[in-house]
Amino acid sequence: MSQSEPPFERMALIGLGLLGSSLALVAKREGLAGHVAGSTRSKETRDRAYELGFLDSVHETALEAVEGADLVVLCSPVGTYGDLAEAMAPGLRQGAIVTDVGSVKQAVVRDVGPHMPAGVHLVPGHPVAGTEQSGPDAGFAELFEDRYCILTPPPGTDEVAIEKIAEFWRRAGSMIEIMDPHHHDRVLAITSHLPHLIAYTIVGTASDLETQLIREAAEDSDVVRTREVIRYSAGGFRDFTRIAASPPEMWRDIFLNNRETVLEMLGRFTEDLTALQRAIRWGEGDKLYDWFERTREIRQGVVDMRQAGSFNPAEQKDEPETE
Ligand code: NAP
Repeated sequence: MSQSEPPFERMALIGLGLLGSSLALVAKREGLAGHVAGSTRSKETRDRAYELGFLDSVHETALEAVEGADLVVLCSPVGTYGDLAEAMAPGLRQGAIVTDVGSVKQAVVRDVGPHMPAGVHLVPGHPVAGTEQSGPDAGFAELFEDRYCILTPPPGTDEVAIEKIAEFWRRAGSMIEIMDPHHHDRVLAITSHLPHLIAYTIVGTASDLETQLIREAAEDSDVVRTREVIRYSAGGFRDFTRIAASPPEMWRDIFLNNRETVLEMLGRFTEDLTALQRAIRWGEGDKLYDWFERTREIRQGVVDMRQAGSFNPAEQKDEPETE
């Protein structure tokens, strides 16, 4: 196929937030689809997507959007996939490829797979790229550049369909990895899901402490205390608040759909946290130093693999990313 010929005639995006709008923008820029259709849950987002102009057609339902599409990409929270797959199944054309951008992968095979009509290929995918922003205004075409996209096709998936999706992501700027869905969910549980859980926790804990400090200060009329957590947030806390601003619906669905693995990783994390807690209590400076030295090297590895910069070009290159 020549580079100028779109690899897909018609792409349908279901869900028009950060991922859906970014995909539409890169598809337009790179000529990845002759027509880009989209649908999403709310009229407000459909109207906004229409205004922003990144789609060729906007549809009220997923069933209408997938009509005639040879590529369908689910870009909504993973908890919505089962119902959406069921709703759009009657409209899927023979030979169509259905993929997604969801952050967990076993659940996609479980929830979407059974609804796929014969002759439709399911190639689940996860671009490991994102920001804490959401909605159709948040999208940008460069989101996937130099990032990994992990494909988790179930055994027996058509090789041509897998290669078409891989090529689609390569043209969007990504590097491709093929993985078993179970392996994906274990790796991402520790590299992405647990860090988000920790961020959500620490920001909530700090906010509770702040409330308590303000209350205590109010009882002592000499002291006026306000929003110290916000004011002094540069001390490491700032990066947690950024991650903890990630969309609640998306992250609720990730934890509920990778439950066992996240709980397993949380167990391992708790053991290590207890070990560090003990080292602090017993004044074991060498232990702490060795641990921090090792993690510093890990950070260097991330930098060396060119995965350390921000996913958002509007931000400083050395800002930490979310996913
Ligand atoms: P987002 O900006 O919050 O957008 C989600 C979109 O899904 C919204 O347009 C929302 O619709 C739509 N939606 C929700 N329920 C729906 C339903 N039942 N039917 C149709 N559309 C529905 O979220 P996002 O960041 O793009 O995330 C989307 C997916 O990408 C998630 O599965 C997530 O796991 C994955 N992902 C996210 C990131 C990241 O960093 N954000 C990175 C990699 C993968 P309305 O606006 O109309 O309510």
